[in-house]
Amino acid sequence: MATEQYTPSLFPEGRRVKVLLPLPLAGAYDYAVPEGMDPQPGDFVSVPLGNQMRTGVVWDEPEKPEGEPVAASRLKPIEQLLIAPRLPAMNRRFVEWIADYCVAAPGAVLRMAMSVPKALEPPRARTAFARAETLPAGLKRTAARNRILALLEDGPPRGASDLAREAGVSTGVVKGLADMGALLPVRVEERLRWREPDPMRPGPVLSVEQEEAADALRGEAGFVVSLLDGITGSGKTEVYFEAIAETLKQGRQVMVLLPEIALSAQWLERFEERFGVMPAEWHSDLSPTQRRNTWRGVAEGNVKVLVGARSALHLPFPDLGLIVVDEEHDSSFKQEDGVVYHARDMAVVRARLADIPIILASATPSLETLANAEGGRYRHLKLTSRHGTAELPDITLIDLREHKPPRQCWISPALRQAVEETLARGEQALLFLNRRGYAPLTLCRSCGHRIGCPNCQAWLVEHRFGRRLECHHCGYMAPMPKDCPDCGAEDSLTACGPGVERLAEEASALYPEAAMEVVTSDTLQGPLAAAAFVDRMTSGETQLIIGTQIVAKGYHFPMLTLVGVIDADLGLDGGDLRAAERTYQLLSQVAGRAGRGGRAGRVLVQTANPDAGVLKALAEGDRDGFMSAETDQRRSGNWPPFGRLAALVVSGPEEGPLDDLCRALARTAPGGDKLRVLGPAPAPLALLRGRFRRRFLIRTERGIAIQKAIRDWLSQVRPLSNQRIQVDIDPYSFM
Ligand code: ADP
Ligand code: ZN
Repeated sequence: MATEQYTPSLFPEGRRVKVLLPLPLAGAYDYAVPEGMDPQPGDFVSVPLGNQMRTGVVWDEPEKPEGEPVAASRLKPIEQLLIAPRLPAMNRRFVEWIADYCVAAPGAVLRMAMSVPKALEPPRARTAFARAETLPAGLKRTAARNRILALLEDGPPRGASDLAREAGVSTGVVKGLADMGALLPVRVEERLRWREPDPMRPGPVLSVEQEEAADALRGEAGFVVSLLDGITGSGKTEVYFEAIAETLKQGRQVMVLLPEIALSAQWLERFEERFGVMPAEWHSDLSPTQRRNTWRGVAEGNVKVLVGARSALHLPFPDLGLIVVDEEHDSSFKQEDGVVYHARDMAVVRARLADIPIILASATPSLETLANAEGGRYRHLKLTSRHGTAELPDITLIDLREHKPPRQCWISPALRQAVEETLARGEQALLFLNRRGYAPLTLCRSCGHRIGCPNCQAWLVEHRFGRRLECHHCGYMAPMPKDCPDCGAEDSLTACGPGVERLAEEASALYPEAAMEVVTSDTLQGPLAAAAFVDRMTSGETQLIIGTQIVAKGYHFPMLTLVGVIDADLGLDGGDLRAAERTYQLLSQVAGRAGRGGRAGRVLVQTANPDAGVLKALAEGDRDGFMSAETDQRRSGNWPPFGRLAALVVSGPEEGPLDDLCRALARTAPGGDKLRVLGPAPAPLALLRGRFRRRFLIRTERGIAIQKAIRDWLSQVRPLSNQRIQVDIDPYSFM
């Protein structure tokens, strides 16, 4: 029998390339290159897969071949090379890096970079007119005709309506000239013009402290991470605008990541004031056409500054020169669905790959970032005072055990009076309660039944404005029943605990004259609604806000002088790794809304635990003391960032097979003295969207290759097709 040898007939000379498809497959597939086509890495191509056509990206050849090549006779050819800008090498390395770090399929990561299939279609062409080299003999020259011909003498070809408008004639004149052969039709690509931000426009005069920070940032080149650490209202935005201006002067692109980009109306306005034009935006509220144009504009290098949510990270910037992550500590940068990753951390990786500077800005930096700054890996720039005459507000704790609100009420007498005084002075107040809806729980007084979600292990939240019950985990909705769904008792259902709607009810009874507004993600949907809200606040039309964390971020309302925190203990209940840190960040952020103009602000924080370290630190303004105590705890417990942590969330529609899978995972779990696997345990949300869930937690010492251990582990089990194992490196959510 012949030994297996290289058989020329099986591998003819034809060229082959690797194509990565935006699907959760193991890797890139080989395709044959048809005669006359010359695909290069990064090119978008359409290729057959099964009996469908798919769009993928020509991938780089691996350094060493991976296993046996597919026989040439079995290779399918590339169908088409798309006319679109290539996916830059940087993005391809970035896809690989994320896949590797997050233990995800490269194609699943690529899918995030290819979220706009329409952007890969050829740009639409339209007809424009150029002046004929020689004008037809006998052309009658009228004034109107002359104007058009003169316009085209030294200008580019233009469409009929543009020409007519510029020459001040009717389109009929253009058509007439074309019919006679004096104008020749040409096809031109439709290109969107992006007006460029102007870095030469003067910014504000910076304070000494601001100027020092701006100067440090302007001078940066190559990969360097700067933590811009400044109290709320200290001018961090103004300072990083200077770094943006510097990058624009070099002609390079800038990406700014913000949490809740759809709500950043004020940020956009300030950008426009500083640079003369709006930046391009990237978030879920864009229309399909806007998405297409923006993707294309970025890829072609015409978009100079883009501000976006975490998904902006995957856009194909050909010449990115600077990344800014504002509110870097914000937990919304962590993506929890699909490929689980932290956009702030990945932004740092992206900057490193591209060898460019990155700025992380925050008034309450995350513990991880502070540890990096203290370890000397990040540069630490500090802004310690508010701009102008504004001062940080006074923060006072109100002990709810002593200052009890009346029954079924949540505003203590002290807070009640403070709001009254504020409104009487013509100033604005904010009551902060991080809970949407009317009440988090509905209970039957007769049988004790609590109304739960049929798809999740969670209670339904009453939304009284919308007259319904809602699950905040899966979106399930049901009309509010009149009678108990369990025992049938009439009118026995009662609301337990407050949400913003219920608080609004209480406030409108206390301050019937005040113009009040409830502000949550239910009421502020989209940039327009947010802009209208900002107008109502700036004009003073709204006097009292009842809001969730959505109003905690970024807003600058000079007449807002009082912030009341209704329940500071809410976020501490979960007890996870970052509960205290998050509470500190959220509360100091919301506190930072008060007193940003000339008038002094104050903050009253209601709590039943006034001795909790985090609240004491908040009241004393001792962020550094609090963070260093937290850091010590994490260090001694070997928690991140001092040890490493990963989670597996295993889910499936049926409990029996799910437990079988968990047993298989438990049997094959890695171990050792530097790596421990805990679990399986039912997840706190043991039923979510109709799927049962179990969790494993993997803890290792620093320096252990946690990804490799997980990959080896997962290669030993075979989940059913309806089961899922989601890997979460550096988990933030423990639900
Ligand atoms: P932060 O981002 O640190 O919360 P901002 O950049 O939003 O602070 O600044 C707070 C307010 O002070 C904004 O209205 C900003 O325009 C204003 N401000 C900050 N620095 C200056 C400056 N040097 N000159 C004029 N206005 C400034
Ligand atoms: Zn649900």
